[in-house]
Formats: sequence, structure tokens, C-alpha cells
Amino acid sequence: MPQHALPIRQPPADPVPTLLRLVASIHGDAELDVTLHRLCDAVAELLGLTRVSARVLDETRTRLLVAARSGMARELQPSTEFVVGEGLVGWVVAQGETIRLTQAETDPRFLTMPHQPAVAGSFLGVPLLDDEGCIGVLSMLTAAQPAFTAQDEQRVLLAVRMLERSLQLGRLRRLATLDPLTAAYNRRALEQFVPSQDDGQRLSAAMLDLDHFKGINDRHGHAVGDEVLRRLVETLHGMLRHEDRVLRMGGEEFLILLPGAPLAAAAKVTERARQRIGALVFGADVRVTVSAGLAERGPGESREAFVARADLACYRAKASGRDALVVDPG
Ligand code: GH3
Ligand code: MG
Ligand code: MG
Repeated sequence: MPQHALPIRQPPADPVPTLLRLVASIHGDAELDVTLHRLCDAVAELLGLTRVSARVLDETRTRLLVAARSGMARELQPSTEFVVGEGLVGWVVAQGETIRLTQAETDPRFLTMPHQPAVAGSFLGVPLLDDEGCIGVLSMLTAAQPAFTAQDEQRVLLAVRMLERSLQLGRLRRLATLDPLTAAYNRRALEQFVPSQDDGQRLSAAMLDLDHFKGINDRHGHAVGDEVLRRLVETLHGMLRHEDRVLRMGGEEFLILLPGAPLAAAAKVTERARQRIGALVFGADVRVTVSAGLAERGPGESREAFVARADLACYRAKASGRDALVVDPG
């Protein structure tokens, strides 16, 4: 008899409604991040869990491209990498096979993480596949009772198989629109996120350009310059909402897309982003500033005209002396 009452998992008796909602929520060209989050949430519901993690691999199939977790805000997502073949998750990726364990901590492949409790509980890891092998893994660990059953495994497999095509396509699209240095989207993603003609959805765009960035490279070297670009994107990803997007438009130029945000709210977010970037310190005492221009899409405005207004506002911020935000009133 266990000395402490363990939490009880309560999967729904009928998985069909959850599975139907999952399929209905994913449209044909859904983004990888969206598909992964929906999959994690649905699997959490199907198994009566609080946490399910998903990871998708980049083109090398050894490094992480995107991670998602159920029931957690974006900034709390795991940035933990993994090594193929190492630990339970690494084993699923290396073998492309499912693992289901009642007591994960007794398995020789189990790796104890510093932040994990001594008693781990039941583990389930399911590979995400394409024609050539493993492109990712869905994993879950629970101390609640009962341990994962064969029926749980089948439910997860069904959810994964139903979304496999969306995951494959979303991954290929994400790879084609990935800036490898910063992991932001590249400028090709503009077509994906800003319809060529106004679709009536509210959308603001902020153009950010690092000030005197050439001087940073010249004085401190290209490696420090690269580090600035990476941390800038990391800072933005850490503070923006789940639906916001960061695109690297050129060398040291970034576009933040803020769907649904009225201009005043978008201005607050952009100004906060500018301040956070300005507060970063690189190496001993290297700091940077950014100029920013913000515009909200006008009725019937084309993609090009809209982005050009954000660009022009940024240019005005530069002309005004840099380290500033200019908001185009529309
Ligand atoms: P301004 O304040 O007018 O924007 O001046 P700036 O120096 O930032 O602008 P400029 O366009 O003259 O220079 C941009 C610099 O960005 C030059 C280039 O070396 C640097 N850059 C572009 N891409 C990268 C990159 O991937 N890594 C590094 N380290 N530097 C880059
Ligand atoms: Mg610049
Ligand atoms: Mg520039």
C-alpha cells in the first residue's frame, strides 16, 4: 500500500470527441508550432495529464527545431536540447520506436535530471515519423496513477497518426522559413503571415533596426555581433505572446508581427521590447540600442504598402537620432 495518496489520472471514457476537436482545429497549412501545441493539449486531455512535451528535429534530425508543452505559457517552454540516443527521449528518437514504462526510474536508459523528483513514475514516448525516419518525439511522464496503459498508448498513437501529415508539412515549411543564426523566421515567412491583400484582421508590424551595428562588429568582432542578433531574438521570443512572430528581414533588421493588437497596445509592446534589448549586456560591457517603426495595417492596404510604412517609421526614428520608436499614426 502506498503511504501517500497518489494523484489519480482521469482520462475521458470516450476519446472520440477530443480527437475530433483536435482534427477540426488543424487547417491544411497550419503552422508547426500551432499543430504541436494542439497535439500536446489533446494528448494531455486524452490521458488525464497536466503535462505533455513535444519536440521536432531540424534538417539534421539531431538538433531541436521546435519544442512545445501542454498547459504552459510560451516563455516557460523547455529549451532543453537532447542528445540522440541518450535518455528515454533520445532513445525514442534514435530508434524511432515507442517506449512505455511503468517505472521510468528503474530503466537503465533513464537519465535523472537535476530538477526532477527522485520518483519519476510512468513514461510514454512516441516517435513522430516521416518516410525517412524520426522527425520528433512526443513524451510524457507522470507520477499519478494508474501507470500508462496499452490503451493510453493507442490513444496517443491515434492522435499522432492523425496529425502526422500536418506535422511533416509544417516542419518542412518551418525549415524553409528558418533563419539559422537566430531561429527567427526569415523574410520568406512574410507571405505566410501577412496576406497580400487586407483580410480585415487587425495586424500591427514593428520594424526594428540595430543602431550603428557595423560599429559593434568592427570594435568587438563578428562573433559578438552574432551573439547580439541571437540574444535579441531570444529576448523578443521570451516576452511576446504566443501568436506574435519575429522575422529577420535582413542583416540586423527584424519585423515583429502583432496580430489583433490595436496600435496603442502594439506601441507599448514595441517600446518594452526596445528597452529590454537596450538593457542587454554582451561580454564585458557591450550594449546596443535599436530604432523602431510601428504601423497598423489600414483597410484595403497591400502587404507591401503596410510593411513600407513600418520601414519608413523606423527610418524616421533613425533620422531623429536613433534609440527611439516612431509610431505611424495611419
Ligand atoms: P544604423 O544605425 O544606421 O542602422 O547603422 P548600422 O551600422 O546598424 O547599419 P549598416 O546597414 O551600415 O550596417 C549593418 C551591419 O550589420 C553591417 C553588417 O556587417 C552587419 N551584419 C549584417 N548581418 C550580420 C550577421 O549575420 N552577423 C553579424 N555579426 N553582423 C551582421
Ligand atoms: Mg542598423
Ligand atoms: Mg539596417
